[in-house]
Amino acid sequence: MPALRSEELFQRALQVSPGGVHSPVRSFKGMDRPPVFFASAQGALLESVEGRSYIDFCQSFGPLILGHRDPEVQEAVQRMIGTAWTFGACEPYSLELAEWITARIPWCQKLRFVSSGTEAVMSALRVARAATGRPKILKFDGCYHGHSDGLLVRAGSGLAGEASSSSAGVPEAMAALTLVCPLDDEAALEAAFASHGPELAAAIIEPLPANYGLLKQRPEFLRRLQALCRRHGSLLVFDEVISGFRVGLQGMAGKLGMQPDLVTYGKILGGGFPVGCYGGRRELMDQVAPAGPVYQAGTLSANPVGMAAGLATLKKMEALDGWAELERRGSAFAARLALGLKPSGLRVERLGSLFWLHGAAPAPIRAISAIPAGQAERFKKLFLRCLDQGLYLAPNAFEVGFISLAHSPELLAQSAGIIVEAARD
Ligand code: PMP
Repeated sequence: MPALRSEELFQRALQVSPGGVHSPVRSFKGMDRPPVFFASAQGALLESVEGRSYIDFCQSFGPLILGHRDPEVQEAVQRMIGTAWTFGACEPYSLELAEWITARIPWCQKLRFVSSGTEAVMSALRVARAATGRPKILKFDGCYHGHSDGLLVRAGSGLAGEASSSSAGVPEAMAALTLVCPLDDEAALEAAFASHGPELAAAIIEPLPANYGLLKQRPEFLRRLQALCRRHGSLLVFDEVISGFRVGLQGMAGKLGMQPDLVTYGKILGGGFPVGCYGGRRELMDQVAPAGPVYQAGTLSANPVGMAAGLATLKKMEALDGWAELERRGSAFAARLALGLKPSGLRVERLGSLFWLHGAAPAPIRAISAIPAGQAERFKKLFLRCLDQGLYLAPNAFEVGFISLAHSPELLAQSAGIIVEAARD
């Protein structure tokens, strides 16, 4: 029975991998349905193992800004596969990508390539601790920065940002080095810096928080954070693993006209292959080995295939002014959704090619405490109806949707229609 294939594969996967998956959100947990197994992908479309086609708004959670297997990126990748796979030695390919980025992003004077966003953030914070000689980090409730120990924390019950670990296996001693503040709350920021300023190596934030809904921040809030960092001698780290090369060539920092001390990228940077990077001011990055005393290394770092995919993706985006085009398509898509969703309890938040569907709220949602109750239940219904109509959203109520340049205006209009229909009572 072909229709059962995904289910059968999931049963087998459950025998050999925890929860049947290699990253938790893929399991469709809470969706009351086993996950769809996909066999292939092209452009804006996925094909399941049963041969069913889906319009894909997950896009692998962000790397594919041109869509799946963009022909020019594929050509660059195939050329590289016919040239070299990995050297573990010096090569010109990472140099080309590093020069491309540093020529365009002034606050990224030097950078180091790694293999994931998690690694990028973990390493940037090590640099911040080394450069300041301080132990603690400040993060924000609702921002995700990968799964390194010190960042798997949640706001604790204590005052001024004390945190506790949010994952088993993370010692409380590690969590104690991280403070957690709510987003959109200057008073909490002031309090955290007043109590812990001299111990804070860095504050890290997604300047466009996109891991717990799409929580657009007020620029004044981000500026206050930067001012407090400066006043207390802490570094400001922008985690642009999602927003980097997504909301514009210079990411959210460029949009805001702000220069962080350190920045992290991933996802789009590798064009669909495992690449991350951290970068910043020259003297900070020169702390990193072998130039300086901060150790960080990687067997597959700056993997040539990822470098080729990333550079081809970025060059194409720049040549097309893809960000302006995505803004146009995203805005038309969101306008259709906003109109069509009015009678339902659902609303859409959007910036560029990122969007998030959420319950109607009395004011802009900028912190997780402002997310209306019932989000998970509301989303589950929508998700399953969309899935039945051949439209794939990321299988979690708090994940954002990703539009790529492979999503044509016609496909987006069709998709908005499917979502609006699915939101009907
Ligand atoms: N930072 C941010 C802002 C992210 O969104 C993510 C992943 N979604 C990470 C870090 C971790 O990246 P990775 O999954 O590549 O380790």
